[in-house]
Amino acid sequence: MLTTPLGIEPVVAPRVVAASAQACESLIGLTRDEIGERLAAAGIPERQVKMRAQQLWQWLYNRGAKDFTEMTNISKELRQTLGAKFTVGRLAVVERQVSVDGTRKWLLRLADGNEVETVFIPEEDRGTLCVSSQVGCTLTCRFCHTGTQRLVRNLTPGEIIGQVVIARDDLGEWPSPADGRLLSNIVLMGMGEPLYNFDNVKAAMQIVMDGDGISLSRRRITLSTSGVVPMMSRCGAELGVNLAVSLHAVRDEVRDRIMPINKKYPLAELLAACRDYPGATNARRITFEYIMLKDINDSAADARELVRLLKAYDIPAKVNLIPFNPWPGAPYERSSAERIHQFSEIVFSSGISAPVRTPRGEDILAACGQLKSESEKRRKSEQAPEPA
Ligand code: SAH
Ligand code: SF4
Repeated sequence: MLTTPLGIEPVVAPRVVAASAQACESLIGLTRDEIGERLAAAGIPERQVKMRAQQLWQWLYNRGAKDFTEMTNISKELRQTLGAKFTVGRLAVVERQVSVDGTRKWLLRLADGNEVETVFIPEEDRGTLCVSSQVGCTLTCRFCHTGTQRLVRNLTPGEIIGQVVIARDDLGEWPSPADGRLLSNIVLMGMGEPLYNFDNVKAAMQIVMDGDGISLSRRRITLSTSGVVPMMSRCGAELGVNLAVSLHAVRDEVRDRIMPINKKYPLAELLAACRDYPGATNARRITFEYIMLKDINDSAADARELVRLLKAYDIPAKVNLIPFNPWPGAPYERSSAERIHQFSEIVFSSGISAPVRTPRGEDILAACGQLKSESEKRRKSEQAPEPA
């Protein structure tokens, strides 16, 4: 499916960040206290610092101000001082594409030239933003294209929250409507392993959840992990977001092969950590993501073993079956529709929900973890000389 774009040409946007602004520190991604510290260091009188930090916070995350000049309850003089030292500028949008099914995808360039992707998936009753946590990924899951890229680095809190800000700019969703939000949910399922960058992910999600700003409930945020067992309890205790676990196999020998992290944290440890996840209840189940790989993990026996494990560990669970998205050179194929259906039926009949995830945004290559490399490749091929 990645090789069948419908000919939608990406719109290449010029960089919007002025050269002079690049040297300034961005206030986006800082906590209120950090903003206060910066203001104090910039000479704002101590007695004003707290109030000014709160005003800025509301401009940034409630009103979505793109420039200090918009901040009309702050004196012109102070706005100039702030503008000389700081920026509230956006990440540069290199490409913006909209699928025939309404899925939007942004390729964003970071200040150091690295790029990440963000995808917005509208549904009937909600809209989900898929956010990246790292440039590339150090783990090398064999079915994942991101895993073939070298990790470049962790994203900063500002770069993580910056993806949410870009999406809300694009959706015209400042300030947050009381109900009926377009961007109603966030999933940390883009590039990277969020639990290998937990501190920055946590800082960014705390901004997203803050009641004076974007104010999205932790119940509407889902973090997906490949199974970084020692970080799972912290995620539950300190963030309290929903957890999704990329399970993908029910036997250690298979999971070792397709997800090398399993050698470090095998199934028994992973499932015990799921059972103990703070906040997991029947009302807030853990999602187990399960990629359907032809003849690797898709048999009826695998489905029965999945049910057995979830029951044995007594985990409040739901299963999401993900048809494998092939990419050039991938060592696997997608299971047949029949196999996927059979697998789903077996899990369902045990009383565990197991819907098949419909691929979204196929025409703009918005599939899991593959976008950046695809667009990089396309740009490279555009630069290549014409064959003689
Ligand atoms: N690193 C985290 C989050 C990002 S990946 C994790 O692994 O959970 C988001 C989801 O996409 C994961 O469940 C991942 O296993 C899945 N994924 C990766 N490559 C895929 C592919 N080729 N087809 C379908 N799903 C894929
Ligand atoms: Fe990294 Fe997740 Fe891809 Fe594995 S599936 S390589 S953990 S992004």
